Amino acid sequence: MLTDTRLTERNVEDSDPLQDRLSPHIHLNLNVRGLGPSATLAINEQCAELQRQGRDVFRLGLGQSPFPVPDFVTESLREHAAEKDYLAVKGLAELRAAISGYLRRTEGLDYDPDNILVGPGTKELMFIVQLVYYGDLVIPTPSWVSYAPQAHILGRQIRWLPTDPATGMGVTADALEAHCRADPDRPRLLILNYPGNPTGIAYSAEQLQAIAEVARRYRVLVLSDEIYSGTRFDGEHVSIARYYPEGTIISNGLSKWCGAGGWRLGAFAFPSHLRWLLDGMAAVASETFTSTSAPIQYAATTAFNGGPELDRYLADSRRILAALAGFFQRTLVAAGADCRPAQGGFYLFPSFEPLRARLEAHGVTDSRTLCTRLLEDTGVAVLPGSNFGRPSRELSVRLAYVDFDGSTALDALKTGEQEVDDAFLRTYCPRVVTAAERMADWLSHG
Ligand code: GLU
Repeated sequence: MLTDTRLTERNVEDSDPLQDRLSPHIHLNLNVRGLGPSATLAINEQCAELQRQGRDVFRLGLGQSPFPVPDFVTESLREHAAEKDYLAVKGLAELRAAISGYLRRTEGLDYDPDNILVGPGTKELMFIVQLVYYGDLVIPTPSWVSYAPQAHILGRQIRWLPTDPATGMGVTADALEAHCRADPDRPRLLILNYPGNPTGIAYSAEQLQAIAEVARRYRVLVLSDEIYSGTRFDGEHVSIARYYPEGTIISNGLSKWCGAGGWRLGAFAFPSHLRWLLDGMAAVASETFTSTSAPIQYAATTAFNGGPELDRYLADSRRILAALAGFFQRTLVAAGADCRPAQGGFYLFPSFEPLRARLEAHGVTDSRTLCTRLLEDTGVAVLPGSNFGRPSRELSVRLAYVDFDGSTALDALKTGEQEVDDAFLRTYCPRVVTAAERMADWLSHG
């Protein structure tokens, strides 16, 4: 209902059409002013539009899994297509039990299914946790595109932790300590994402232990975004919850390792004494999204229960992703870029600072212009580092090496291909290979 008195007065005085009277200058929430669509979704739509116009675009913008949802999981969705009732706000009991089992299997951690909250994607749950928990958002630069805008919409303070390219641009215990020491009692929510978006970097057990120690000292709530856990190339994902169980919420879902981003299914697992936070979030959920899609929850139960088919799918996906990451990283480094090798996920976060003089000579002085020119000249679509909290002048970009048909590539491994070498990549992921070579050529020759 509109309660703005100015509007009501004008309603009486004149008879403008409604849209003339609803002014964004008066009626748009201040925290939403100036916000456009999220960069990942905007680049996806821009690429689709360019392709409709007949352009050959290499889609390395949106981080979408190239692989199909495993057959046994789509089969489960088919079987449950007729499930049409609203489900419990916190999620289907069988799914929460399956997620609890998954965390026991993969992490050796025990979560009571009652302490698990299911939602329509972890992105929505991240927004709600920031709404319900009153604290500063602490994230490293660079971080995924949506953490900071969510905090901004909710009016939370955003504190960027400085990072060091030499150590992979992740959170360090020292940076967290320095940040917290300045104001020890402030409530804070630290988001840790590993394998990381946008860098592809994972933390070692020692790094996680050191971060956990600082977080415990300053009672920092940690949201551990483990959506890429199943893509870690060596299969050895370790959660910080092993070292800081009392202060960590684990976030995971189907979007990445299960190839089901569009299904929108995510979940948070809480330590038991943070039940009040889960309950607060569930109250908001009940007043907003009600419950998560029923057929998807049944299929997700099948996915989280896992089994040999999922194990094979994950192992094969990881081999392909690891080979692509290696090929792309080596190609860019050979062309003069700085780029750390990835340890999982779909991304690389190269910096072209070593090539600044040459790029500046062509009018490229910031990451946004860099991406625009790269797209115009080569057809390769990537996102500017500035979307991830890097200074706008820094010549960094995020690329998602996902423009290939994952179904054909997985089939090739099932039906006899043994090696995932450069020849395999040229046959089954030709667009990613070409995109890497075009980028390298563009960097070398301008
Ligand atoms: N997480 C993916 C990305 O960073 C896409 C999904 C999204 O941003 O909502 O590209």
